[in-house]
Amino acid sequence: MDRLASSETEARCVWVNGPVIVGAGPSGLATAAWLGRLGVPCVVLDRADRIASLWHYRTYDRLKLHLPKQFCQLPFLPFPPHFPEYPSKHQFLSYLHSYAAKFGIRPRFNQSVLSTQFDPLCGLWRVRTLDLAADSGRTTEYICKWVVVASGENAQPVLPDIPGLDKFKGRVLHTCAYKSGEDFRGQRVLVVGCGNSGMEVSLDLCNQGAKPYMVVRNS
Ligand SMILES: Cc1cc2nc3c(=O)[nH]c(=O)nc-3n(C[C@H](O)[C@H](O)[C@H](O)COP(=O)(O)OP(=O)(O)OC[C@H]3O[C@@H](n4cnc5c(N)ncnc54)[C@H](O)[C@@H]3O)c2cc1C
Repeated sequence: MDRLASSETEARCVWVNGPVIVGAGPSGLATAAWLGRLGVPCVVLDRADRIASLWHYRTYDRLKLHLPKQFCQLPFLPFPPHFPEYPSKHQFLSYLHSYAAKFGIRPRFNQSVLSTQFDPLCGLWRVRTLDLAADSGRTTEYICKWVVVASGENAQPVLPDIPGLDKFKGRVLHTCAYKSGEDFRGQRVLVVGCGNSGMEVSLDLCNQGAKPYMVVRNS
């Protein structure tokens, strides 16, 4: 798909004959598959080195889909029938890899989008990326008519600014860096928030011999 969609006019400027999709998570993959079905070529850019980087790098070990599988599958490809109602993160990742392969989606990895700018004079978008792999500060400008932003809602961890936190001697981490309660065996852990992640992390801490406490802002 990528080869069909773009022609590189010079090293750092790429004309894309279709939309540029920012993000190779589930949303970006689904958009690329739909466009492919309609015969519209596109280029998918991701700053990570693989698809679905959130699920690969920034989720805990015991994670299963929080919603039943029928609500999480992408267009045109149901989950394999043998998958449980709540697939594990590894099953979800394998599904996403099969999805990308089935629809011929080959994102350009290590391309961190720095800016997207619409040029009203020529009616085109300029999408500027930094090549993170090359470590050379090399930037590329993708020129296209449409941009699809599929960069996710959890791209940046948010740690609230809690007064006195800088004096706390223990470890402080966001759930995106949490892997397993094993790392906290025998320790007291304060979990801030009781959404899906807070609840599941607390359960995991209990199961792994840590002692979690939970604080919640509202009832
Ligand atoms: C613990 C947990 C459990 C969840 N459970 C479920 C569930 O059961 N069901 C469900 O449907 N959803 C669930 N979600 C929500 C999750 O956000 C979605 O599953 C899904 O990952 C969202 O897909 P996305 O493509 O919109 O965003 P993401 O998966 O976040 O993908 C965004 C991509 O954009 C890339 N990107 C971001 N910024 C840039 C940039 N500047 N340049 C280039 N690339 C960039 C990132 O590298 C990433 O690969 C869960 C999330 C978490 C954290």
